[in-house]
Amino acid sequence: MREMRRSRQLLSQEDCETILKDNTSGVLSVYGEDGYPYGVPLSYVYADGKLYFHSAQTGHKIDAVRKNNKASFTIIAQDNIVPEEYTTYFRSVIVFGRVRILENDAEKRAAIETLAEKYMPDLKEGRLQEIEKEFSRLCMLELTIDHMTGKEAIELVRARQ
Ligand SMILES: Cc1cc2nc3c(=O)[nH]c(=O)nc-3n(C[C@H](O)[C@H](O)[C@H](O)COP(=O)(O)OP(=O)(O)OC[C@H]3O[C@@H](n4cnc5c(N)ncnc54)[C@H](O)[C@@H]3O)c2cc1C
Repeated sequence: MREMRRSRQLLSQEDCETILKDNTSGVLSVYGEDGYPYGVPLSYVYADGKLYFHSAQTGHKIDAVRKNNKASFTIIAQDNIVPEEYTTYFRSVIVFGRVRILENDAEKRAAIETLAEKYMPDLKEGRLQEIEKEFSRLCMLELTIDHMTGKEAIELVRARQ
């Protein structure tokens, strides 16, 4: 695990968690093919200290996590360009962890229901029907967090002081 070189800009673990709860997408970076790392944008839900993703059962990312379960997930929580200062007031989080494909139906169902609830909170009946329809085709991934870091622009740090 690397230390952040600009430690003043490091966000607390609590702030990182808030970002994980409040955002709706990020980039999952997984083991590459032919030496190219693969970063793929995904929706996610943060629950019980873990991240959950839904996926098709085949494809580039599934092949990658089957080969190597280590992954990272990056969320850009804020990117406010300030042209006159030649910078952006940013906040982001990078989570490092291990991905597991949920093979057990009960685990898979709990994960997809939690994910669907985040994105369609008002459509309980509809989302459960949709899950039923798609269940056999979908695949759920669980990312167990090994560590995470958050960082913000120095201007945002100074604004709070
Ligand atoms: C905001 C957002 C949220 C998303 N949420 C989900 C989600 O929750 N679940 C889900 O399964 N998918 C989601 N997607 C789509 C996702 O990015 C992938 O396209 C999809 O998961 C298929 O991934 P794969 O590795 O199986 O693709 P494959 O079809 O196996 O990929 C083959 C090749 O297609 C290209 N490719 C694949 N996806 C993309 C992409 N998004 N942009 C550009 N090139 C691409 C890459 O070159 C890749 O090597 C989301 C996309 C966005 C932008």
